Amino acid sequence: MSGLYVHIPFCKAKCRYCDFVSFADHDCMGDYCAALLKEIRLSAAALPKREYESVFFGGGTPSILPVGAISLLLHALKESFTVLPDAEITIEANPGTLTEEKLKEYKAAGINRLSMGLQSANDALLENVGRIHRYREFVQNYECARAAGFDNISADIMYGLPGQTVKDHMDTIEALYRLGLDHISAYSLIVEEGTPLYTDIIGGAESLPAEDDAYLMHKKGMEFLEQLGYHRYEISNYAKPGRESRHNVNYWENGEYLGLGLNSHSAMRIEGQWLRFANTASLPDYLSHSARGVRPLAEPPEIIPEKEEMFETVMLGLRMTKGVDEENFRKRFGKSMEEAYGDALLSLREKGWLLRENGFIRLTEEGLDFQNEALMSFLDD
Ligand code: SF4
Repeated sequence: MSGLYVHIPFCKAKCRYCDFVSFADHDCMGDYCAALLKEIRLSAAALPKREYESVFFGGGTPSILPVGAISLLLHALKESFTVLPDAEITIEANPGTLTEEKLKEYKAAGINRLSMGLQSANDALLENVGRIHRYREFVQNYECARAAGFDNISADIMYGLPGQTVKDHMDTIEALYRLGLDHISAYSLIVEEGTPLYTDIIGGAESLPAEDDAYLMHKKGMEFLEQLGYHRYEISNYAKPGRESRHNVNYWENGEYLGLGLNSHSAMRIEGQWLRFANTASLPDYLSHSARGVRPLAEPPEIIPEKEEMFETVMLGLRMTKGVDEENFRKRFGKSMEEAYGDALLSLREKGWLLRENGFIRLTEEGLDFQNEALMSFLDD
């Protein structure tokens, strides 16, 4: 399978924990969209043809673009690439930037999945990390999206926020269940160096929940989500039956994807070689490439040696609870996982971290908790 990713690097304001490539200054938003349209056409002309089964508008906050912009971009994608008629087409949207008019536009353009950034149902926690919205706005936008006909809606939530309790996290999950969300992504807050939150934590002005409490939020949250009928299909992702994100599953299956826009990444097999390439992360550089009519690659595509491609396939596949499909692995690399990683599989099985079931090799729940350590065995094999 192949997926298309489009990066929209603008947000209404920067959250205090955010180190993504996104800007609260929107002066060049129009120029950026024009450059993106150009990149779509240049990339389609330069790259081998593919049938794309998913499109993902990510950010940043794609829903910040003015009415009409997303339809224009999606139209250009469909004109330039083969997007299959039943493709999953997702847009990330933040409460506080969505309107009824935009939702109607997305629906009419063919977007069939919304991924909303909530993070918590507790307004004090939202305010403290600099989120632009409050829970009430999320509910209003969610209801408006349902009324506009969206039947596949996901929400991102976070645990380990400053001041957050286990109860806060459970309350958020329960609220989303009551609203009827189809999919929930539950991420742990990572405090990145250089962010305002990092500075406050280092300076003692702010503190994170104790490690044990953050772990409890993860464990109890996971159990609660499962109880409520959300199946954990990846370390941080939970879905009602049939509502797994196809775009993300392709990524974890180490499938092909083409990234368009600032700092986007791609992986593709071209002339038998597995290639990775990335766009520049500098906005002026991105715009100047566009002005010159050239693709905004940061550097020439990198050829990934087979050993590395094999390790990436295992590393990404083991993030999913179903694990790595043994038959697909054999078809892709011409050898079985036993042949490639016999020692690692044996030692992880002995530790109780790995299982072989129904044609898949997967980590156990304990193995998922120690995923990084488990993956080291594959590197050493
Ligand atoms: S909305 Fe997302 S991308 Fe934008 S500043 Fe907040 S965390 Fe960063």
